[in-house]
Order: sequence, then C-alpha cells, then structure tokens
Amino acid sequence: MSAIDDLPPLRDVVQRFDLAPKKSLGQNFLFDLNLTSRIARAAGPLAGVTVIEVGPGPGGLTRALLAEGAARVIAVERDERCLAALAEVAARYPGRLDVVAGDALETDLGALAARHPGPARIVANLPYNIGTALLTQWLDADVWPAWFDRLTLMFQREVAERIVATPEQRADYGRLAVLCGWRTKARILFDVPPSAFTPPPKVTSSVVELIPRADTLPCNRRILSQVTLCAFGQRRKMLRQSLKGLSIAGKPIDAAALLDRSGIDGQKRAEEISVADFVGVANAAAALAGV
Ligand code: SAM
Repeated sequence: MSAIDDLPPLRDVVQRFDLAPKKSLGQNFLFDLNLTSRIARAAGPLAGVTVIEVGPGPGGLTRALLAEGAARVIAVERDERCLAALAEVAARYPGRLDVVAGDALETDLGALAARHPGPARIVANLPYNIGTALLTQWLDADVWPAWFDRLTLMFQREVAERIVATPEQRADYGRLAVLCGWRTKARILFDVPPSAFTPPPKVTSSVVELIPRADTLPCNRRILSQVTLCAFGQRRKMLRQSLKGLSIAGKPIDAAALLDRSGIDGQKRAEEISVADFVGVANAAAALAGV
C-alpha cells in the first residue's frame, strides 16, 4: 500500500506487469508518490477539473492527480504494456479515469476534454523526445483562447529554459519562447533531479506552468511562425539580413520596408527583440503582403 492510496507501490506494479522502461518511448518513470503529488498540487486545485495526462506509464502521476481530487483524468498512453496496470487504477477510482490507447501527437485532446463539463488542463511528465512537438502543437492552434486553462508539464531543464526565455537570456530565446510568450504566461515551478526517475536521465528536469493568455496580441499565427523561422534561422545576422528571405502567401517581402513599417532597428538580431516586436513585424508583413 502506498502513502496516497491503497494501490501497490509503483515499483511492484512495474515488476508485476513487466514494464521495463523503453528508451524509444521516452520512459523515465517517477516512483515517488510524494513527488507526483507535488506535481499534481502544482496543477491544482483540481476539483471539477478534467485533466488530460499524456503518457501515464505505470500510473504514478495519474494516481496523484486522482488522489488530489481531479474530477476525471483522461490518460493517453502509447505503450500498450501499461494498459493493464492503468486498469487497476481505473478500478480504484470508478468513473474517474479513462485510458486512451494511442499516440498523443495524433490525438485530438481538446475533443476528448470537450466530452466533459468544466475546465480542462494538461498535466504530464512528458516523453522528452516529443515534448517540444506536443507543446508546439497545443499552442499553435487555430482557436484561441485554448480549450485548456493551464499546462503543467515536465521537460528537460534545457527545454524549460527555452520555453520561458526572454531577450535577456539570448542563448535560450528562440522560436519556442516567442510562441510560448505570445500565447501564454510561462514560468518554471521547480526542478527535479535525475535521481527521481527510473532510469535516471542524464540531465535535470523542470516542471513548467503555462497559463494561456486571454489577451493575446492580435496576429496571424502562421505569419508569426514564418517570421520567427526566418529571423532565428540566421540568429547571428542582423534582422535586415535574416528577414531577406521572407515571403508571405508567395509574395516576397522587402526586409527594409518591413522593418521600417514595424519601427524595428534593422541592425538588431532576432534574439534582441521582444515577443511584442515579433508580433509587430508579423502584422507589418501581413499588411505588406496584402493578406
Ligand atoms: N507519467 C509516467 C511517470 O511520470 O512515471 C511516465 C512518464 S514517461 C517520462 C513518458 C510516458 O509517455 C511513457 O509512459 C511513454 O510510454 C509515453 N509516451 C511516449 N510517447 C508517447 C506518445 N506519442 N503518445 C502517448 N504517450 C507516449
């Protein structure tokens, strides 16, 4: 029996269901239910909330989310070996855990959440190999404000720093920081050492909170993405040079005219201008392209 519920300890679960961690699936499991409870609390309060969890694995974070009072958890897991272990958790919390077998990258998580009333949020110890791809997919959505009211996610510390970076942290500031800063307020909550995981990864991890902004600066997300791709594609070059390749809707954009219209000094580099500046450039590019 564990500290938070009457289910068996996670090490026993992993042994009984033969869940030897697979590197190809980014499986670094958390066995410490005090730590998974801390992550669940960081995402709280959870009463009345539908939590979408990506990659429940043997169920450590899942159990913590349920014990912390989530109305329900919808857990999307790609590794079919984990399903029997998760069925035991579902039996312990009748009607509150839905396990969806599949690839989270190919799953419409918003549609799963929309089946239930109340707020929805994503909480996950993400598989590191697809963490950035998942976050980008969730934030780069057509519809905003998003269907989730908060994201509480574990990443490698290095990725966490790239998510929350500002132009002051030039080395980390890039396309991911612009997307995250445009659509959310992001911050690192706490670090988790490699020793907390089985097997231990090589690097420290961090739990990151992202709260969607209701007052996102108006901008075409595709054009913003094209602008940041161009600007950070040659991040050491001045913007008047790096933006030369920009083309919107098939129309080449004159970099000098673009920077002039946006009021940005063309001698600056991508890593020196703010999210609001990037939005200004994207809107100016849309105007010049007539879209
Ligand atoms: N939540 C568990 C924990 O904290 O111990 C496991 C976290 S482990 C870092 C990542 C989990 O994501 C694994 O269970 C893995 O099988 C699962 N996973 C990997 N790729 C996935 C995908 N594309 N879609 C859904 N789950 C995936």
